[in-house]
This record gives sequence, structure tokens and C-alpha cells, in this order.
Amino acid sequence: MRTLKTVTALQKHLNECRKAGQTIGFVPTMGALHSGHLSLIDASKKQADTTVCSIFVNPTQFNEQSDFTKYPRHTAADQAKLEAAATEVLFLPSLSEIYPNGTEQSQPFDFGYLTQPMEGAHRPGHFDGMAQVVHRLLEIVQPDFLYMGQKDYQQFLIVQKMIELSGFTTKIVRCPIVRERHGLAMSSRNERLSPKDREHAAWISRTLTKAVSKGKFKALDVASVEAWAIAQLKKVGGIEVEYFEMVDAQTLQKVEHFGDAEQIIACTAVRIGDVRLIDNMFVK
Ligand code: AMP
Repeated sequence: MRTLKTVTALQKHLNECRKAGQTIGFVPTMGALHSGHLSLIDASKKQADTTVCSIFVNPTQFNEQSDFTKYPRHTAADQAKLEAAATEVLFLPSLSEIYPNGTEQSQPFDFGYLTQPMEGAHRPGHFDGMAQVVHRLLEIVQPDFLYMGQKDYQQFLIVQKMIELSGFTTKIVRCPIVRERHGLAMSSRNERLSPKDREHAAWISRTLTKAVSKGKFKALDVASVEAWAIAQLKKVGGIEVEYFEMVDAQTLQKVEHFGDAEQIIACTAVRIGDVRLIDNMFVK
């Protein structure tokens, strides 16, 4: 695996790959890699000739300074995992490589309603920073394929829209959520959970599973299932629910009945202590 730290070195190498007729798959991450990230690398390895993984903890997408400071950083361990997964290129840029003119965003995108509910409502500015860094990374890497996890479903939809708005030819690929043994969606933030917190956190996916089956059965309206799920999560000690919403999976608009949209997804965010966790499941 080549570890490249500058845009110039990366682009020189990728131009050679392209000249040799290779396609490029790209997996952007913030590091502290786990099996969820590695499933994206696997998807890229299966489809593209050269896989580039980036590790960059992007300051502009953190709406809480403490979350940025506490975000786990394990570069040496990450490098070993990527090497073991036979990743061809690790891009490990500094802040000034990504933002040579400073972190101020000249022209934020207009994503319409997609950035308003759920994560948008609870993390002001988060999606502007996320779209800013993914746009910059796509400009640098110019991949044929971009692999992103369903775990961050709203993010996936926004990046899909950003690609469309920017006219990039990159194809975005959505990869399924990888979970721990008891169902907790893998996340770099999970390492900050105590054993007791982890027991509590297992109720997130349990509740989602039950809510989804209630939705499939269509016995209740959407608001009643949401209210049931929030009550269920609140019963678990130590969990503070930020939202639990079952929405149209294309537009993220609220739906009243489970028959109202072609695809419906249940999305939730909770806090356990000072750790914020998100998860989702498709109802249909
Ligand atoms: P992050 O490092 O958290 O920014 O995540 C980098 C990419 O990995 C994003 O596309 C995430 O959606 C994806 N990802 C994170 N956790 C998981 C997971 N448990 N399963 C699948 N993909 C994931």
C-alpha cells in the first residue's frame, strides 16, 4: 500500500493508474477504522481496479468542538488494517492540503429539504462541512466509484445530490450497515462506550427492528409507531433520544401512513452519556 500525504503525489499516482486503464474506487473516512469501513474497502476492491481510502478528520463538519477533540485517532492501526485489506492507496492529507485557502466555504450547496430534518436539525452546519470536504476530496481523487455506508443514510442522500449538482461523473454506491454481535451499528464512537453503555446501546437496533416490523404489519399509523419506539428507548436507562423518525426514504419528508411512500426508512439518533449514536433500517 502506498501512503500519500499530498494532493500532488496522489494525483501523479492516480494519473498513472488511469493511463494504465484502471478504474478508481474511493472510500473517504475519518479513521479509527472498523469492519464497517473495511466492508466499503471490500466493495471497492470487488468493483474497481485501484482502491483509494482517505483518512481525514474534517474539522468543518463537527458542530461540537469537544466531539472533534475526542474523535479517536489511530493512524498506525488504521494503516495496518488497510494494508491487510490489500488497499492500494491511503491518502492521509494535512489540513492545509485539503483547505489551502482556509476552511471558509465560499458557496455552500443548496440541498433543499434533505439537510433540514433529523441530523440537519440536530447538528447545525454539519452537512455543509461534510459536503464541503467530500466535494474537495472528489475534486482531488476524481474516482469512478464512491463507496458510502447506509449507516449515515441522510449523508448518503446529500452526497448523491451534491454529485448531481456538481456534475461529477462519479457513481455513488451505498453499502449496508455492518453491526456488532448484539446489533449495535459499528461506529468509531462506540469505543467511547462503557460495557454498561454498550448493553444500553443494543436497544437502538432492537427497537428499530421492532418498529420496522410494526411498520411492515401496517397495523398502526407512522406517528404511533414513532411514539412507541421513543417510549421504548426512554425506558432503557441512560439513553436520551434526539429523534426517531420514519420518513420517505427518497425525500426524507414525513409520512402519515406506511402505504404513503414507495420506500420508508426509520432513522434515529440517541445520546448515551456524551456519545452520540445514529442508526437506521428500511421499513420497505
Ligand atoms: P466515518 O469514518 O464515520 O466518516 O465513515 C466513513 C464511511 O464509513 C461513511 O460512508 C460511513 O457511512 C461508513 N460507515 C461507518 N460505519 C459503518 C457501518 N457500521 N457499516 C457500514 N458503513 C459504515
